Amino acid sequence: MKTNIYYYTGTGNSLWAARKLGEALKDARLGSMRRVSPENDDAEAVGLVFPVHIWGLPQRVRDFVSRLPAGKSKYYFALAVNAGQVAGTLTQLKKIMKARGLNLSAGFDLVMPSNYIPWGGAAPAAEQEKKFAEAAKKIKDIAGIIGRGETGPVEKGPLWQNLVLSGLLYRLSYSKIPKLDKNFWVDDKCNGCALCTSVCPSGNILLHNNRPVWQGKCEQCLACIQWCPLEAIQYGKKTQACARYHHPEVTLSDMRA
Ligand code: SF4
Ligand code: SF4
Repeated sequence: MKTNIYYYTGTGNSLWAARKLGEALKDARLGSMRRVSPENDDAEAVGLVFPVHIWGLPQRVRDFVSRLPAGKSKYYFALAVNAGQVAGTLTQLKKIMKARGLNLSAGFDLVMPSNYIPWGGAAPAAEQEKKFAEAAKKIKDIAGIIGRGETGPVEKGPLWQNLVLSGLLYRLSYSKIPKLDKNFWVDDKCNGCALCTSVCPSGNILLHNNRPVWQGKCEQCLACIQWCPLEAIQYGKKTQACARYHHPEVTLSDMRA
């Protein structure tokens, strides 16, 4: 079955998951949601791999879905990459796809190390390795399900998560995401290398006097703060003491591809 997998990634977790799934499916092609237009997608099976943001869909994923060929009968599947609470993210996706005449045939919850640095730094390496191993095992199982073309209900969290986190908190917070970049600031370590401008998926960072300035159209992917080679970017008051995180098998070149 000809398969295309589209991914969205900030710290490499979703890119790694998309790669692993592509390898397990053998002949899948990968494309970044940043770069690829899906309007003329001609695959029989289409996968979406993305991080969960505020217990729901990132805006970029919503935009991408809105450009999928409407009403086309394909086998759609999704991996929602998260740090332990997928909540109702895949149910959201199923609904917005249905509104476009598309059926999400299968949706999976994939737990990976947290990259949400405002709530804490990178987990110890051993803990990360454990999560990578568990995720790799689940991806193999998922590949089997996809390879057989199986359909089923999407995975979701307990009812309270779906109602409170994906329902209430997501809805209250969603419109505020672009302006959350007001919490970013840069310390004296910054050398003006401009790397942060190149990893930002939304072109939200400009250099002014060799210092990053955020433009109020943030996606909260956290790529800038996690990839800055000098750890010069901070968010709020606590991140100076936090270890940075990006997936160890993903490189900066991968992020810019
Ligand atoms: S990546 Fe870091 S060091 Fe480079 S310009 Fe941005 S903040 Fe400064
Ligand atoms: S400003 Fe930083 S967190 Fe916001 S979209 Fe760009 S890279 Fe992601």
